[in-house]
Amino acid sequence: MKHRFFSFSISFVLVVMAFVTTFTQLAQEKQPAVTPVHKQTSGQSASPKRPLYQIDATYHPERDEVAAKMKVTIPHKGRDAWREVFFHLYPNVFREWKYGKEGKPTKPGYIQVSQVKVNGRAVKEKLVRDEIMRVPLVQPLAHGKTAQITMDFTLRLPHGGTRLNTFKHTAFLAQWYPMLAVKNQSGWQIEPYTTVGDPFYSEMSNFQVSFHLPEGYRLISTGKNLDSGSFVTIKQDRVRDFVAVLTKDYQKQSAKAGGIAVNLWYLPGMEKAVAPLLHAATQSMNFFGKIYGKYPYDEVDVVLGETGFGIAGMEYPGLITSIPTMQTEAGIQPAVSVVAHELAHQWWYGVVGNNQAKEPWLDEGLTTFSEFLFMKEKMKSDEHEFLRRATKKADEIHQVAGITCVDTLYSYPDIFYGLMVYIRPAAMLFELMDELGRDKVLEILRAYYDQYQFKTATTLDFIRVANKVAEKDLTPFFREWLYFDKG
Ligand SMILES: [Zn+2]
Repeated sequence: MKHRFFSFSISFVLVVMAFVTTFTQLAQEKQPAVTPVHKQTSGQSASPKRPLYQIDATYHPERDEVAAKMKVTIPHKGRDAWREVFFHLYPNVFREWKYGKEGKPTKPGYIQVSQVKVNGRAVKEKLVRDEIMRVPLVQPLAHGKTAQITMDFTLRLPHGGTRLNTFKHTAFLAQWYPMLAVKNQSGWQIEPYTTVGDPFYSEMSNFQVSFHLPEGYRLISTGKNLDSGSFVTIKQDRVRDFVAVLTKDYQKQSAKAGGIAVNLWYLPGMEKAVAPLLHAATQSMNFFGKIYGKYPYDEVDVVLGETGFGIAGMEYPGLITSIPTMQTEAGIQPAVSVVAHELAHQWWYGVVGNNQAKEPWLDEGLTTFSEFLFMKEKMKSDEHEFLRRATKKADEIHQVAGITCVDTLYSYPDIFYGLMVYIRPAAMLFELMDELGRDKVLEILRAYYDQYQFKTATTLDFIRVANKVAEKDLTPFFREWLYFDKG
């Protein structure tokens, strides 16, 4: 995600500093972090078996509703047998909004699950929190086995929701179906929702999603677009999530970035931003593909529009959202840096995954670095001085507030989040370029992409790859920049 109020400027840094003095108070009111970051385990090992979601959904715009049947085939992973599985029901956070009045939907939304069966036998699911559902397994799921869970669900779309939203003749379906939680060596990863950052974590899965669409609607999604029709089925393998935009109003212009189709979707009134943003999108897809490695899908969709309070853009597999224009020092301009940022997430978060709730810097830091590098080398916009000053401010904030770049989402007040999680790690990689050279740093990122694509990586994995490629121990460098540990 890119924060809307994140104009990367010195005035932003000054605003941040104004909040430093009140931080201690704020921090006391915050919930404790779910798990200390230092207890992170290593990335998951490769497994050819992935969950398969089969969803058959019908959209009823007249009642803001999606009614669906879902079958999820879940392979066992790890050593111990499973007695239960957990699903995230993110739409339920919009039922009774607890996250500040600015982002409150104008009309609530929710998801209702029924008829849950495991391997054909009815079971009693339970909400352990509003947005977390536990499904007991009839028999323990042992190594090498799969469980088949079926359920019906009804999604009521909020109005004015963050990411999940509907307006006029368009529905943004983000985190819209029961999403299987990740189980790793630390157990089930069921971190709570928050409006700071992106509290989502899911593993690579295969999808077969069918939509019954009302007349005149079309589907834009994580998968390859098909010509519109009243019934469409999309198959997409090896993605972490499946987002869908159902719309009567969006139009598109397309271009190619190498062999990849780049589609820019826009609404009436956004025409001026279309050509520059389509150009920026194809340029950034080419740029990131060249420096990091191949984008593994056939197509990417850029959907212009508002997707929630404070959010300039959001990343999903194969699809991003972005505001069409933004305020810059040169006045209102097409949101080129937002599009570049969200597209860089296709590499960092989309293909190489990380637990975004526990280690948000790992995708946001690498993505912000990618965005700044693109803006510098392709758009002639050099933010070196801003990064230098922001780094200094981050040091001061750390001294007052104790937070670092490697904390969980729940540790940061919103105002410090961008500086610590996005900007300082980006400045770190530019500093590393000064020390090792541009080519060596890009070689590190290429090796990291190559080694962890379609997997989940951790901070320690990243440092390990960097040390190996650089052929020297960079751990003290990373400890100083990320952990503020000066040895
Ligand atoms: Zn981001």
